[in-house]
Amino acid sequence: MASLHQMEPASRDAGPVFAAGPMTLVGLTRDELAEALRAIGIAERELRMRVAQLWHWIYFRGATEFDQMLNVSKSQRLLLSDHFTLARPEVTSEQISTDGTRKWLIRMPPVDARDKGAEIECVYIPESDRGTLCVSSQVGCTLTCTFCHTGTQKLVRNLTSREIVQQLVVARHQIGDFPGQTPPDNGFLPSGEGVRAVSNIVFMGMGEPLFNFDNVGAAIDVLSDGDGLSLSKRRITVSTSGVVPEIPPLGERAGTMLAISLHAVRDDLRDTLVPLNKKYPIRDLLDACRAYPGLSNARRITFEYVMLKGVNDSPAEARELVRLLKGIPAKINLIPFNPWPGTKYECSDWDTIEKFSDIVFNAGYASPVRTPRGRDILAACGQLKSETEKVRARARMMGE
Ligand code: SAH
Ligand code: SF4
Repeated sequence: MASLHQMEPASRDAGPVFAAGPMTLVGLTRDELAEALRAIGIAERELRMRVAQLWHWIYFRGATEFDQMLNVSKSQRLLLSDHFTLARPEVTSEQISTDGTRKWLIRMPPVDARDKGAEIECVYIPESDRGTLCVSSQVGCTLTCTFCHTGTQKLVRNLTSREIVQQLVVARHQIGDFPGQTPPDNGFLPSGEGVRAVSNIVFMGMGEPLFNFDNVGAAIDVLSDGDGLSLSKRRITVSTSGVVPEIPPLGERAGTMLAISLHAVRDDLRDTLVPLNKKYPIRDLLDACRAYPGLSNARRITFEYVMLKGVNDSPAEARELVRLLKGIPAKINLIPFNPWPGTKYECSDWDTIEKFSDIVFNAGYASPVRTPRGRDILAACGQLKSETEKVRARARMMGE
């Protein structure tokens, strides 16, 4: 536990943190921003210009105060601060792994009177040539994949597009990735000319993004806007357990990269691992993949395959995997299973994973095994949320 730096704000359990008050502009789409400005009486002819100004300050510069906006007149700044804030959701815990992976628990204020506010997780994974932010699309998940811890969580709601965008704004701020900020020089952040600490986004946190299509689509518009957060759509990947009818609209509407949580090569097994398969079997899923727009050797679909001991890890299954994916520009990510308390699965032995990966490699697929990152802080796939609460409780007991 020596490598674990936890920051526990005193306010965490101290009742409602977010009183109803002025609305934050951080996370809004261009249309929502225009609507907000219209509501405070900004003239129609000025709207485009004002939205462009705010957009630049909020998303390009990461402004936290209206007073930083020097090209906005003093009276406008006053008007804005009378009605709005630039508040971001609160980071209630930050954990930094020995491998540089960072995990944040982010407390989202209530979206309506019934909502108590949600706590979601967001993970940053630095590599030498890129930094990947793993964002959540829902609180919990309505699907019940048997190997995934998130699927056991009861509370489920969609995140708004604002909450999805806020995860990147918070991450950039925490890392020091906005202009004028200094990122920590600790050897963990990617470096090179024009390289941003967060260069890639994967929708692989909590939730099924294609069950929250509209909000995910709107968020992607903001994340990829060249005047603001500026992430290339080729560096945004949406991962789905296989919501087949939403795959063509994703390609048309958002045009991002696609990842499929495949995990099995036979319907009878996939029916138990990913129950959604009963509705959308492997054949339909792969047909949708074949038709995904813009595929080429440079733009491949990622197929994720979690390695479960004695369940889906035989050489015959590796060969079948390669056969199934024939003709689809594909990458294969073999993910060592991350165990969680109460699970009936175990991770395949290393030898078995190597044999599986050799078969996949010999069929022409490069670098197939995804090394688990941030294991010491429980930031790896499928370990999100409730495990964190256990760690916190333990840390509290130990007086850390
Ligand atoms: N719901 C979407 C995206 C979030 S899950 C989806 O299922 O694709 C992100 C990835 O983590 C998926 O490939 C999922 O199958 C995988 N995963 C879930 N639990 C895991 C575990 N315990 N160990 C390893 N990978 C896991
Ligand atoms: Fe939901 Fe994905 Fe977990 Fe399945 S693997 S329960 S779809 S988050």
